[in-house]
Amino acid sequence: DTARLQQLDRDHYLHPFTDFKSLGEEGSRVVTRAEGVYIYDSEGNRILDGMAGLWCVNIGYGRKELVEAATSQLEQLPYYNSFFKTTHPPAVALAEKLCQLAPAHMNRVFFTGSGSEANDTVLRMVRRYWTIKGKPEKQWVIGRKNGYHGSTVAGMSLGGMAPMHEQGGPCVPGITHIRQPYWFGEGRDMSQDTFGRECAAALEERILELGEENVAAFIAEPVQGAGGAIMPPESYWPAVKEVLAKYDILLVVDEVICGFGRLGEWFGSQHYDLEPDLMPIAKGLSSGYLPIGGVLVGDRVADTLINEGGEFFHGFTYSGHPACAAVALRNLELLEAEGIVDRVRDDLGPYLAKRWASLADHPLVGEARSLGLMGALELVADQQTGERFDESLAAGNLCRDLCFDNGLVMRSVGDTMLISPALVITREEIDELIGLTRQALDETARRLIR
Ligand code: PLP
Repeated sequence: DTARLQQLDRDHYLHPFTDFKSLGEEGSRVVTRAEGVYIYDSEGNRILDGMAGLWCVNIGYGRKELVEAATSQLEQLPYYNSFFKTTHPPAVALAEKLCQLAPAHMNRVFFTGSGSEANDTVLRMVRRYWTIKGKPEKQWVIGRKNGYHGSTVAGMSLGGMAPMHEQGGPCVPGITHIRQPYWFGEGRDMSQDTFGRECAAALEERILELGEENVAAFIAEPVQGAGGAIMPPESYWPAVKEVLAKYDILLVVDEVICGFGRLGEWFGSQHYDLEPDLMPIAKGLSSGYLPIGGVLVGDRVADTLINEGGEFFHGFTYSGHPACAAVALRNLELLEAEGIVDRVRDDLGPYLAKRWASLADHPLVGEARSLGLMGALELVADQQTGERFDESLAAGNLCRDLCFDNGLVMRSVGDTMLISPALVITREEIDELIGLTRQALDETARRLIR
């Protein structure tokens, strides 16, 4: 009974990232099942999930193999830990598989229950590393404005989301943020190339302000996801790499969204030719079927922790949880065996790029960009000048709601519309997604421009 569920939902369930009052009389949509790239609600509506849940159901919904992996592991060994010289097959097999897929210098993994816990682990590992190396003054971690690294206290402190900092109480000390490489939003008065270099120069400036001897690490997503699917200009990452090498600062690449095929490689780091010291992972690791995350650790940090560090006082009850690990392993095996990541790079990514770019002719669209199977549309009031809508109109939220009512899940960040569909989407389903998007843009325009 949908109405009863909605009432109970309002009465008892505190939703994440939700303005509770906004649920209002209408109540939440009740999602009851899913298959492939579609979700279904309690009213029988079929909705194309253009976000793969929360950027995570990479393999698509309804894969029986993952259900079987979970149930057989739950029967065999539902839980055990690896705290005191014990281990178990699923975690070991998953660790091996991840290290095969990761860049060559990454040969260890630390498991967590989520991406946020992975970033808490990162912060502790980075500081531990420099302390072991006899440089405890290297404490500062530099993140980016609008970066997202999770909702735990360390995660939100590493991230650069101003509203989270304002609500979250004092952030973890020793974390600072530099500008984001968001050309459409902040750099259109110069070329992409120049803007990318300027953003990398901001990193060097901050390092010098803090004192290079005090800076431990730089953390960034290959493409900023929750910040608005921000693909940096080509000049950005090479210049950042140079700066980090010059001052011997660790690179943390948050692969929670970009990992496991989203950009057409196993990791975003491979797309941008990065050699991270640490890579937090989650989401697509299990395609969201069960919660699991981790940190892939490069040899430099791992060797130090292992050979010089003694016990690292850190870990979670569910680190390497057997059922989650078994599901993640099966997920990676299927992504590999079915050539899903290669297909994103060679076929679906370029196809989406072409179809997505065709939306740029719509009067509401200031920019249509995509990489792999991640895309963004910038909504504008005036296509010629790129002028934005007045904030009070909440154009992005309006477009998102119209999309949903019309059978497509898109997400909005301000007036930037985002997509990140399951990697198993077909060309026909991409065509459907484009058609639904255009309809929602038309309807948004009708409501906003009189
Ligand atoms: N890092 C990135 C880049 C993310 O996008 C997210 C979640 O969206 C996280 C970390 C946090 O992951 P979780 O929600 O699993 O804690």
